[in-house]
Amino acid sequence: MNYYETIILCQPDTVKSCSACCGLMNFSDISRQALTRFLARGAKRSSAHLSASDITDQGDGRQIRDLTSYICPHQGLIFNKRPGCLLHPQYRMKSMRHESFFGEQICDGFLCPAHEILSTYHKKAIINLIDDWYCYTIAVIDPRTTVWLLDMITERFPIAYQREDVIKNILSESLEVHAKYLSSCTGPVFFYSVSEYNAGRAGFSLDIDSRDRDDERMEIRAIIERNL
Ligand code: SF4
Repeated sequence: MNYYETIILCQPDTVKSCSACCGLMNFSDISRQALTRFLARGAKRSSAHLSASDITDQGDGRQIRDLTSYICPHQGLIFNKRPGCLLHPQYRMKSMRHESFFGEQICDGFLCPAHEILSTYHKKAIINLIDDWYCYTIAVIDPRTTVWLLDMITERFPIAYQREDVIKNILSESLEVHAKYLSSCTGPVFFYSVSEYNAGRAGFSLDIDSRDRDDERMEIRAIIERNL
């Protein structure tokens, strides 16, 4: 078994990471600006929440996407300004994760649907070709779209892979576009199991053959052609 068959997507390197299963994508406004603002206030919020209360709105009264799902107050910006757990031993020098709602064991053991859905090749591609935490998180939360995007480029525009800067630009711009469309969906955009994801992704995944997504697919193809 090689390295990529056992790869964990959460903190793959020092420049990007994901905290979607901490509830980050449960806010109604999942724009980069809103989520960066939320994460930047992590240290202050984490201390205040060590004793209490759930997050049920965006901080400005807007409700979260799924009221039955949890948003952990202890996520924030860790080293290199990437998302992570402010109670994790690598950040605090000692583990305080037992103070969180899910506790250390659940946080340690959970793997999101992307781990099952993405092949070794696709995992390797998003780790090597996406350098930014926000685009990376979008690739993780909707893995079928990620597969669709990577496979479509491989099949129709293989030349894109000949220059790393070109394929990196294409992926980041395409995932920014997908983030914009995900933002406009009203329901949950992150799911904790493959079965929930399969049931919930009908409204946004690009591999589903629906005319509703033609505009987005056209935007992405235009990005690819402009970058080549
Ligand atoms: S959503 Fe997936 S990749 Fe992101 S932190 Fe959770 S388990 Fe890791």
